[in-house]
Amino acid sequence: MASAATPGSLSFLPTTSSRTTSRNRYTPSLSTAFLRTPLRRLGFSSVAIDPLLSLHVAAKTRSIQGKGVKGVVSMVKKSVGDLTASDLKGKKVFVRADLNVPLDDNQNITDDTRIRAAIPTIKHLISNGAKVILSSHLGRPKGVTPKFSLTPLVPRISELLGIKVEKADDCIGPDVEKLVAALPEGGVLLLENVRFYKEEEKNDPEFAQKLASLADLYVNDAFGTAHRAHASTEGVTKFLKPSVAGFLLQKELDYLVGAVSNPKRPFAAIVGGSKVSSKIGVIESLLAKCDILLLGGGMIFTFYKAQGLSVGSSLVEEDKIELATSLLEKAKALGVSLLLPTDVVVADKFAPDANTQIVPASAIPDGWMGLDIGPDSIKTFNAALDTTKTVIWNGPMGVFEFEKFAAGTEAVANKLAELSGKGVTTIIGGGDSVAAVEKVGVAELMSHISTGGGASLELLEGKQLPGVLALDEAVPVPV
Ligand code: AMP
Repeated sequence: MASAATPGSLSFLPTTSSRTTSRNRYTPSLSTAFLRTPLRRLGFSSVAIDPLLSLHVAAKTRSIQGKGVKGVVSMVKKSVGDLTASDLKGKKVFVRADLNVPLDDNQNITDDTRIRAAIPTIKHLISNGAKVILSSHLGRPKGVTPKFSLTPLVPRISELLGIKVEKADDCIGPDVEKLVAALPEGGVLLLENVRFYKEEEKNDPEFAQKLASLADLYVNDAFGTAHRAHASTEGVTKFLKPSVAGFLLQKELDYLVGAVSNPKRPFAAIVGGSKVSSKIGVIESLLAKCDILLLGGGMIFTFYKAQGLSVGSSLVEEDKIELATSLLEKAKALGVSLLLPTDVVVADKFAPDANTQIVPASAIPDGWMGLDIGPDSIKTFNAALDTTKTVIWNGPMGVFEFEKFAAGTEAVANKLAELSGKGVTTIIGGGDSVAAVEKVGVAELMSHISTGGGASLELLEGKQLPGVLALDEAVPVPV
């Protein structure tokens, strides 16, 4: 039988012994030993203009050597930063990027973030004399669909690289081969949308071989599609050696895997969003790593119900009540401080103009639904966050799309911005939390903002991404 304790009492403060046990299970492995050095602040929006980014991975490896650690660093993917002019000069490099930018009805780019994010890798390659064959998907075309052509991207890519980028009307075939043959060292050829071929998403080996036959080596910088085994993200690696990670992909791994597996402690995870069911994997995986877990969003009502509370007409997943109970027990067993909101903003309907009131979590009136966390919860969450050195956030605290229910989410965004300024590592783990920090105007202040929705969720769930798995291992560095 679930306990009838108020959610406010759900602060399972860790005991020394339980913490020690959990800590022991997460002794840093040699593969993540490099993260003992402070992480550089590489806010996503600064990636494109960070002149040092191209040295990021190589520098990281060197920094281990400097520390005099004994052992071998393995399981780190080989990076484009490991490739020097002697590896690259005159070589044809197939670069899979995520250039899936939004376009308006007149084919104007409305947000060029993804293009800017791909630039450091391309610049590193062309400045070392490589010939870049650039590939991406755009939208969800069914066969050749002119409105999903990559042609409108050419002027912006050219402008950012400072060279004239050539464009092919296809991504395989004799015409493309001719353009590749004519590419000068330091030149860039943009291939047409790789998803114009259904074989791309089917990871068809023949199609992958055709793509690969254009190049000598492969760089994957498309984090947003790394969780998909497609021909241009996974299939091509069977035919191209080396196959390495681009700088953007590497940075996502550094933060979403590295910093999360071996965090500066105390480490807090904030998980929100609509449903428990879509975040089970993330909660379970983070529970095993974090010291503090803050929960918000629609999922909290399933947890309240698990404790015998009335939740009015709030969102509840009846079939996940047992799971919520077991997650609460798991947190306790692991010595994780799990905080549920103590008060909520309730509404009489799901609408921007709903009537609202703030009530304790234990007193949600019948017929009212909880759509945001309340001011007491914000205070408690802020106090908990003040104790941390690393924070990861995935999912909004309320229905932040409606102004009346945005305060909780915006408070978290502002708190993380403040903590970033104090040297706390702040990681925004994709999806709606990214939209929230952008809305509040604090995106630039975060240590890392993930560029991938599905891919970051899968990484946070502890899954291996096929597009990453397929890449070559970094050469073990004796240190
Ligand atoms: P997710 O994609 O699972 O991260 O969920 C994000 C969505 O959760 C956003 O569109 C929010 O509007 C929604 N959400 C957050 N809090 C609530 C809530 N209390 N009730 C219903 N939906 C919510």
